[in-house]
Amino acid sequence: MSTVYNFCAGPAMLPPPVMAKAQAELLDWQGQGVSVMEVSHRGAPFIALAKTSEADLRELMNIPDNYHVLFMHGGGRGQFAAVVNNFLGNNGKALYLLSGQWSKSAADEAVRLVGEAHVDTIEIVSKVNGLNQVTLPEFNGPATQYRYVHYCPNETVDGIEIFEEINAPWPVIADMSSTIMSRPVDVSKFGMIYAGAQKNIGPSGLSIVIVRKDLLQLSAINPSSIMDYRIAAAHDSMFNTPPTFAWYLAAEVFKWLQQLGGVAAIETQNKQKAELLYQCIDELAFYKNGVAPQNRSRMNVTFQLQDEALNKDFLADAEALGLVALKGHRIVGGMRASIYNAMPLAGVQKLVDFMRAFAEKHTA
Ligand SMILES: *Cc1c(COP(=O)(O)O)cnc(C)c1O
Repeated sequence: MSTVYNFCAGPAMLPPPVMAKAQAELLDWQGQGVSVMEVSHRGAPFIALAKTSEADLRELMNIPDNYHVLFMHGGGRGQFAAVVNNFLGNNGKALYLLSGQWSKSAADEAVRLVGEAHVDTIEIVSKVNGLNQVTLPEFNGPATQYRYVHYCPNETVDGIEIFEEINAPWPVIADMSSTIMSRPVDVSKFGMIYAGAQKNIGPSGLSIVIVRKDLLQLSAINPSSIMDYRIAAAHDSMFNTPPTFAWYLAAEVFKWLQQLGGVAAIETQNKQKAELLYQCIDELAFYKNGVAPQNRSRMNVTFQLQDEALNKDFLADAEALGLVALKGHRIVGGMRASIYNAMPLAGVQKLVDFMRAFAEKHTA
């Protein structure tokens, strides 16, 4: 089989060396004669894995000691609910910044759980010169106005990324599911960061929570036990059985990233990949992208063919070359190339070569 480049938005491709290692030790993990999936999470080998992976993630993201790192269940959406359950309860309000599909879903979940009276929203994307652009408002209310402000730094569906920091008098909670570890961030600026794993970390189901310890002390609410950050922290993320295989793969992805030189090094590659692709889209009248340059996602590149009637041919021809999962999200339409950390430059180069050839073939 020739090389397939998988541009799926999630679950996304994982680094080939990590997959090969997982395959090699699938039936015999650490000489135990059984798989990592088949051993107790309370045994010494898995506890060691848990400790090492947390230390590696702390090193990669430069996470200060006054933050917990939790490995939880339920993916990104699990955290939509957990955030509300841990921090909001039925008294107090939260502010949700809306920039696309995922931030809207997070806000919807909050409304579902605590009602509109407890959830304020601000739409931060508007059309400027025909392009979707993020404009952050001034955040200057009293510190007690909101329990937190929630936003999504990278809108996976819409291809919109927010590189600016949010400076607000309230704890900032970020859904980094599709941008975590793609570029350095200053963790100390956040009350909490969370991410479903299946874009830049590992298999689906797992979610990573990085939460400032003092915020948990304030929590006067009792969420369900498996969603309670205080309980998760007190039990080293093992109050109940964690998704052990997903955790194991995440640990291998962290090591892979460290070997590449860490988050700053992968950012350089990510910039290069995104520039290559956006340059192609901008150069050829055949394609278009509707996002303002400063908010173009480095992870999810959305684009449309000027002639939408060619969409089917585009996808079929791409697939024949091993360029798969380029169809845009059903809500947005068009195309989307997700180019997370694991996507090599060669994959993007092959896509760009194909896009140029396809445009040429269909331009009279
Ligand atoms: C994929 C994604 C989610 C949802 O993750 P699930 O694990 O499917 O719940 C949430 N937020 C963002 C930004 C995502 O990209």
